[in-house]
Amino acid sequence: CGIFGITGHGEASNLTYLGLHALQHRGQESAGIVSSDGHILRAHRQMGLVADIFTAPVIEGLPGDAAIGHVRYSTAGGSQLKNAQPLFVAYAGGQFSIAHNGNIVNAAELKASLESEGALFQSDADTEVVMHLLARSKQPTFEAKLVEALRKVEGAYSILLLTEDKLIAVRDPHGFRPLVLGKMKEGAYVVASETTALDLIEAEVVRELEPGELVVIENGVLRASMPFKPAPRLGRCIFEHVYFAKPDSVLFGTSVYEVRKRLGMQLAREQPAPDADLVIAVPDSGVPAAIGFSQTSGIPYDVGLIRSHYVGRTFIEPQQSIRHFGVKLKLSAVRSVLKGKRVVVVDDSIVRGTTSRKIVKMLKAAGAVSVHLRISSPPTQWPCYYGIDTPSRTELIAASHSTEEIAKYVTADSLGYLSLEGLGAAVEDPKRNTYCTACFSGQYLTEKLSRDSDVAKL
Ligand code: 5GP
Ligand code: SF4
Ligand code: MG
Repeated sequence: CGIFGITGHGEASNLTYLGLHALQHRGQESAGIVSSDGHILRAHRQMGLVADIFTAPVIEGLPGDAAIGHVRYSTAGGSQLKNAQPLFVAYAGGQFSIAHNGNIVNAAELKASLESEGALFQSDADTEVVMHLLARSKQPTFEAKLVEALRKVEGAYSILLLTEDKLIAVRDPHGFRPLVLGKMKEGAYVVASETTALDLIEAEVVRELEPGELVVIENGVLRASMPFKPAPRLGRCIFEHVYFAKPDSVLFGTSVYEVRKRLGMQLAREQPAPDADLVIAVPDSGVPAAIGFSQTSGIPYDVGLIRSHYVGRTFIEPQQSIRHFGVKLKLSAVRSVLKGKRVVVVDDSIVRGTTSRKIVKMLKAAGAVSVHLRISSPPTQWPCYYGIDTPSRTELIAASHSTEEIAKYVTADSLGYLSLEGLGAAVEDPKRNTYCTACFSGQYLTEKLSRDSDVAKL
């Protein structure tokens, strides 16, 4: 998911719309904005894309100089309007709204215990647990209630909250998901998942929120604190660099584009394809790594696959039936480039293997004589419990198949993955102890492991 918030600007909901537009790659199922005019919070949430939802009249209905917004893609918690964010409630202490990126791993237990005390849940989303905990807290201030609630919560959360008069931003102690603070020339504060959203609205990047940091902005004044117990180690999501984030963003202190290029360079060293005539990418996510592979190997880069701009990320549409023919809608092969060539094709990851299989077949049908598939991350063997929608282990092809077996399945002439060591080197964390790599290594950073799907089952 993607989140964006702003306070101290007369065009708050308009700028939130632009910010969400820049973060659309982080979620395409639903979007929402909640604004505050200092007294009343107003919300608009809808299934679909930001540009389709937020027409001028809709934005006009969201007045005020503060707003937060959210773009969502579901982990298994149901692609329905009731789960669209920001969530929004009125309780004894006033109104508030919350937008969450991440996944709370102990949400199922917390939800069960809240329900046994009479709480009525309106959504399946793990995020709603935070709202109930907050509303029930006996602490005197909103901030103290929030801190008490979040101390009970484990897992991944970059969160924005909006009250009548405050914008609050929090990042969990592991720092799984990104969150960056910015400032506009006129003095308005902005918080967003990625710097690309700040760039679009010409806000200056101030800094990333620290893992475990809480920031409160009220009447133009920012207060920062570290109210949580530090995590035993950091767990910044390495897959943000591999695939999820937009390449023009600076994430966890490093350019996403440069990291992806280095992944490709390292891949060329580890998994060369010396006889190949050209290197192509699976666009868009494979492009920087393919350029890196080409530069290091000396094999020329060319464009052998064209991506349609009118289809979203296929994996984000949750129905297997749509995923099935999504690849052909999205990618087409350039026959003149491929005909008679030995081709290296670079992609960022193999999840189920169905995409790769179709791509290899497509390249061969367009005349490629051999196809050498190179993947700029290690085999995806474990599901993510921290906010990325990887399927269960049974659907992850690398969880049950060797590299040779996968090569055979996708009909590639050869297949090579980047090593875990190579991945760490590309993000300048050779020991891999400031990043989470669990989907590749199985080394999870929390004891509990559960997702929205488990919560929904209760
Ligand atoms: P698959 O191997 O499942 O057919 O598809 C792999 C493709 O899906 C890659 O091109 C990759 O860019 C994209 N992808 C990346 N991350 C994810 C993810 O978390 N889930 C799914 N299903 N696909 C992803
Ligand atoms: Fe990121 Fe993978 Fe860790 Fe999930 S398991 S937070 S996708 S590195
Ligand atoms: Mg891709």
